[in-house]
Amino acid sequence: MADYEYDVLIIGSGPGGYVAAIRAAQLGLKTACVESRETLGGTCLNVGCIPSKALLHGSELFDEAANGTLAKFGVKTGKVEIDVATFQSEKAAAVKDLTGGIAFLFKKNKVDWLKGHATFKDTHTIEVDGAAHTAKNIVIATGSSVTPLPGVEVDNEKGVIVDSTGGLALPAVPKTMVVIGGGVIGLELGSVWRRLGAKVIVVEFLDQLLPGMDGDVRKEAAKIFAKQGMELRLSTKVTGASVRGKTATLTLEPAAGGASETLKADCVLVSIGRRPNTEGLGLDAIGLELNKRGQIETDHSFRTKVDGVWAIGDVIPGPMLAHKAEDEGIAVAENIAGQVGIVNHAVIPSVVYTMPEIAGVGLTEEAARESLKASGGEIKVGKFPMLANSRAKTNRETDGFVKVIADAATDRVLGVWAIATVAGTMIAEAALGMEFGATSEDIAYTCHAHPTHSEAIKEAAMAVRGKPIHM
Ligand code: FAD
Ligand code: NAD
Repeated sequence: MADYEYDVLIIGSGPGGYVAAIRAAQLGLKTACVESRETLGGTCLNVGCIPSKALLHGSELFDEAANGTLAKFGVKTGKVEIDVATFQSEKAAAVKDLTGGIAFLFKKNKVDWLKGHATFKDTHTIEVDGAAHTAKNIVIATGSSVTPLPGVEVDNEKGVIVDSTGGLALPAVPKTMVVIGGGVIGLELGSVWRRLGAKVIVVEFLDQLLPGMDGDVRKEAAKIFAKQGMELRLSTKVTGASVRGKTATLTLEPAAGGASETLKADCVLVSIGRRPNTEGLGLDAIGLELNKRGQIETDHSFRTKVDGVWAIGDVIPGPMLAHKAEDEGIAVAENIAGQVGIVNHAVIPSVVYTMPEIAGVGLTEEAARESLKASGGEIKVGKFPMLANSRAKTNRETDGFVKVIADAATDRVLGVWAIATVAGTMIAEAALGMEFGATSEDIAYTCHAHPTHSEAIKEAAMAVRGKPIHM
């Protein structure tokens, strides 16, 4: 049998790759992780989840002080101003802490960090900046990058037309920001700069925001964002852009076609999705083909069609989420070690970290109805407004609702959706319940602490088959 330098070599150190590396090392496998960035942690820690959450948090603090929320509770602040340099440096500190934390964990677990860009030479050999490394198993965890929009050229240095990386690093609050794409990134980053004073206009191709989410949630979210002052231009497409000095001029058209108009802004954020990173990986050398969406297909164990080569995270099908990548990282390492690593892709929560937060797990109402249609089955839906939740009322945070969708025949929960200030934290309970095969009755008869926002989940579950108490 051939001798290899490593049992497992992972390409990419994002939430998929670094977690796979640590788990593989914990399981006694000799492990290396290749990363072309200066720091570990991938998109998520460097230019994604972590910096965006730091800016969201900072802008929420500013908003609470500036919009009268603090004053309403008697907290006097005087003149409220934002120092963008400090705001940005606090974000940078969080990124430094967390990426440094991964480097510490690699050392602690004896994972070798190979610095540079990896290219396949053959199924068991990778070249990293001229040096060859061999491994019995190679895991592709190369993640994703911003999808470009033809005719709208991103230049993060100039800072007029930016992608999410540029949008996280603006040195000043724009007067007007046009967000192209009313998805997760557009709404999170749009919220940050709106709270700090920008006029934000969201241009979305579809007739609703947040594709893939529950229909009621999408409608309610649009109402809430409009109430907060975002201008929503739905069913509209951007057909071109030009930049003169510090101003961009966009050409817009109805999505279905029609008369065009122009829109000027001092910042344009392009956030129309992300695409898998496979360029320059040398997949031809191992005969690994991509699917129509440019993704690497795997089986349930995360094996690709090429023996000894595995793939996880944003580069394979499924939602592009850090926790999905992490769970796949653990599973792939366990499978390589001869254990049984499984990810239940039917129960992956998703959260939009706006204020209020928007979260869901399992099927939307539309998908649940459709999935039972073939067998003649039906669903039952229970809804409970945050306006009737005592904690939300006390905190003066009454926007939103919780919705529980169950199979009418078995009562098994098929999906849970929530808009609430802490919906991202609340949804963990729903995911755990669904993982254990909970019925709506199980949730309705589980004692929930009072007063908490989570009581709204219990009440929505009560509404599936009977009546909630507080409505
Ligand atoms: P990535 O994190 O993309 O990591 C892949 C790594 O591989 C990169 O560091 C890259 O440099 C490296 N690499 C690629 N090719 C090579 C090569 N050939 N050689 C060496 N190294 C290579 N998800 C959430 O769940 N919650 C959030 O709040 C959230 N917020 C986000 C905010 C923003 C602005 C963005 C852009 C994304 C956000 N995401 C969020 C999505 C999340 O970042 C991704 O789903 C996650 O990072 C995917 O992990 P991954 O390991 O598959 O890949
Ligand atoms: P997205 O897929 O969430 O949203 C893109 C939006 O752009 C969609 O609504 C789409 O209809 C619209 N769009 C596409 N082409 C358009 C065009 N030409 N003109 C106008 N609108 C157009 O993508 P994103 O917001 O760029 O985020 C990328 C990925 O990053 C997502 O898959 C998401 O899962 C992940 N992410 C997750 C989080 C989180 O978990 N909180 C945060 C940020 C990013």
